[in-house]
Amino acid sequence: MTCPFCALEGPRRRVHRHLIDGHADVVATEVNPALGQMFYVIACPNCGGEIRHQVKPRWTDPGFVREFGEEIRMVAFDLLLYHVEDAHSGDHQ
Ligand SMILES: [Zn+2]
Ligand SMILES: [Zn+2]
Repeated sequence: MTCPFCALEGPRRRVHRHLIDGHADVVATEVNPALGQMFYVIACPNCGGEIRHQVKPRWTDPGFVREFGEEIRMVAFDLLLYHVEDAHSGDHQ
């Protein structure tokens, strides 16, 4: 498959790793202090749709998020790749 954000091609697992290492800046986090909830958000580069998922409650601690930011990105990019495969499956690999 091809990286949604650049021209890199490779097996899904490599693209996933590449996203975490190379495109970490596209993952945004949103906090709803009133509800004590945190979400991560990625805008799909193909359709502009938002991939949004609630972070586990214990991750609302900022220190925890810094420490486990990579895990959050791993999950977020996994969801993005599922979305790209479902909605924009131009190439299958
Ligand atoms: Zn890329
Ligand atoms: Zn999309």
